[in-house]
Amino acid sequence: MQDCLFCKIIAGEIPSTKIYEDEYIYAFADIAPQAPFHAVIIPKEHISSADEINENNSFLIGKVFEAVANISKQENLANGYRVVNNCGEDGGQTVGHIHFHLLARRNLAWPPG
Ligand code: AMP
Ligand code: ZN
Repeated sequence: MQDCLFCKIIAGEIPSTKIYEDEYIYAFADIAPQAPFHAVIIPKEHISSADEINENNSFLIGKVFEAVANISKQENLANGYRVVNNCGEDGGQTVGHIHFHLLARRNLAWPPG
């Protein structure tokens, strides 16, 4: 997808610090971390937001959570973590390629702000 920041990261046109990759998923360090461990997990296929999930692409969301479990083992996050998806303006989404924040290594307040 042209002019999509995260598609450019997947293509290697914009540098990122890779945390995990498989056939369907790429995960990289957030440039403005909100926790000591903060990964951004994205499907390689461009999906604009959670609002665009459908019966053809929803398997990729399962792949995201398979990646979460793999990253948890890889990074030793056994103490716990939070997975967050921001959708749309009120949800605080700033990049139009669906992504999941994986936050860990601090006690995360609930409910979130
Ligand atoms: P959101 O606000 O949910 O859309 O999240 C977008 C996230 O992408 C934010 O946490 C940003 O810090 C992060 N981000 C933006 N640009 C980059 C980049 N070039 N490399 C890594 N993370 C980025
Ligand atoms: Zn994209």
